[in-house]
Amino acid sequence: MNNKNIIRIIKIIISLSYCVIHQIPLAVLKVFNRKFPGTFVVLYYHEIKSIHKDNFSRQMAMLSKYSRPVRADSISFTAGEHRVAVTFDDAFQSVIENGFEAISNHKIPITIFVPTDYLGKQPGWEMNGDNEIIKEIVMTGEQIVKLPSELIMLGSHTCTHPELTGLVTEEIEKELRTSKDDLERLLGKEINLLAFPHGKFNSVVVSIALNAGYKYVYTIMPQFPKQNPESAIIGRTPVNPSDWDIEFRLKLSGYYCWLSLPGHIKRILNKFTIQ
Ligand SMILES: [Zn+2]
Repeated sequence: MNNKNIIRIIKIIISLSYCVIHQIPLAVLKVFNRKFPGTFVVLYYHEIKSIHKDNFSRQMAMLSKYSRPVRADSISFTAGEHRVAVTFDDAFQSVIENGFEAISNHKIPITIFVPTDYLGKQPGWEMNGDNEIIKEIVMTGEQIVKLPSELIMLGSHTCTHPELTGLVTEEIEKELRTSKDDLERLLGKEINLLAFPHGKFNSVVVSIALNAGYKYVYTIMPQFPKQNPESAIIGRTPVNPSDWDIEFRLKLSGYYCWLSLPGHIKRILNKFTIQ
């Protein structure tokens, strides 16, 4: 077994343990005939390779069976309801080619985040050393305009897909404002969602994004399924069409949220170190 699969299995075991522990308060609520508090999970994909088309279709069937699919900006909580939003970063053509049928069959609203300088081109950014990704092609402007708006929302993924935390203020503003303007001109509607390329952000980036008119900004770290509904920063759980069923089911239910703990601890420690 390769290292990647060993790590996947370890993550599954931790998430299953978290799931078991989580069942205790749920059982108590049931005894008192109370509904569990509403929960919300946002998933994010990248490409859908043709060999994973059927697997992706099965994942969408699971999603509609075990949750209520909602738009990524429908951030509200209803007792007894588990809501899940599906997003895609990078706007690859393979998402529509291999995923649209399943999305449409199950009526699952999705949000696609577009790197606007790459329309119709291969990605020019590095992605975790994954050479497969460079075979993907970003949708053209024409393809984006034709997407059915009742099912597919669009958001910005900046212009050039940079690590925003490595840029100066003027460059961040240009990436966020120009991509927003370009998409709005193309679609003739307001764009107010942004996904950070490579998941890189800090308080300066968030503040520039909110000033530029974005309502919600999306990270690549899972969030706890019951988060502050007032927050503009939305965590997302990474999913892949090649995920095993148990892996996808646990992610779907929010049991991968513990993945964000190391980041939280690091931020708390940084605060103490700075003070
Ligand atoms: Zn990306």
